[in-house]
Amino acid sequence: MGKDLSLHEEWLMKLRNIITAYTRNRAPDPFMIWFRKKDSENFFADDLERVLTILVDARFDQRTTAEKALENTIAVVKRGALKGVIAKEKLTPLIPRQGMTAEKWTDLFFSSLPRLHELARKIVTRREWDAAELLDYMLHDFKVPYPGVKTSRLAVRWIHELVPSMRINMTTYRIPIDSLVYRVGCRMGIIDPKIDKYHGENSPADLKIQSFVKQVFPEEPYLLDEPLWSTGRRAINGGHCFPQNPDCNGCLFQSICPRRSVNIDPAKLGMDTEYMPGRIKRALSSTDRAIKEKQTQFAKFVEELKQKGIRGKEYREKIMQWNREHQDK
Ligand code: SF4
Repeated sequence: MGKDLSLHEEWLMKLRNIITAYTRNRAPDPFMIWFRKKDSENFFADDLERVLTILVDARFDQRTTAEKALENTIAVVKRGALKGVIAKEKLTPLIPRQGMTAEKWTDLFFSSLPRLHELARKIVTRREWDAAELLDYMLHDFKVPYPGVKTSRLAVRWIHELVPSMRINMTTYRIPIDSLVYRVGCRMGIIDPKIDKYHGENSPADLKIQSFVKQVFPEEPYLLDEPLWSTGRRAINGGHCFPQNPDCNGCLFQSICPRRSVNIDPAKLGMDTEYMPGRIKRALSSTDRAIKEKQTQFAKFVEELKQKGIRGKEYREKIMQWNREHQDK
């Protein structure tokens, strides 16, 4: 037992080191760079403007790139969005998120701006929040149309990291469980799809994963969020842990993963399909041929890059370019 415990501790330590290195080395978020620069130039009048800017960018940062979201944020800030409600005629069309026209996306932003102002005011007035409570407030008590669970969590993190005078207790942060996190959690041995079923908050898998992330980083449980879900994404988005045939080579967790349940899709076994993202549900239906075709093309493209010896920054840029070109195909 003592030996098992020390082995487990050793494994946790390796995982902490992997996540710490990942967090240190990941490309800085363009919004955070821009925000810090503007803040150092005294661009924001007060915390209300800081929090509002964060809410605006987090809202734009969905089904698009962080760069395009930031372009929209800069455009609306320049037109006076932080000072009050912008006149509709002053807004030229914004860059739309996927599946939406520029005009519609611009209209939606325009109509949600007064509520974003109100939400920022409510957040700043109180100043001290538990992360879980703030998230619940944003998602249920004072919902603004369009920020979803992921973008709201992003906003909570940014408020914590970028507005230090706001006191956000991050120990209560819960990582969102979707099929990507569930699958990687199973393969890593954190949960067992035969026992730890997921059917929403406080279901057995949810409790186990939340308790695990707190064990790894008690003060900063959110650090595990992105590494887990991004590992479970499709190859086209840089992931490794696919529903079938995971590509362990080059995976962030390659050196410590026990590779459980690799011959099945754990999410199919242990997860209520209601909680699977739309793209996974589609993949389970008869329409997954197009996705598979795209994955095959992508694998071929990656192989060509490898054969040409393309690596590092150039490799990442080519992958992003390919991704952009094939986004809607
Ligand atoms: S090492 Fe393999 S099984 Fe483990 S998380 Fe990575 S891709 Fe999945």
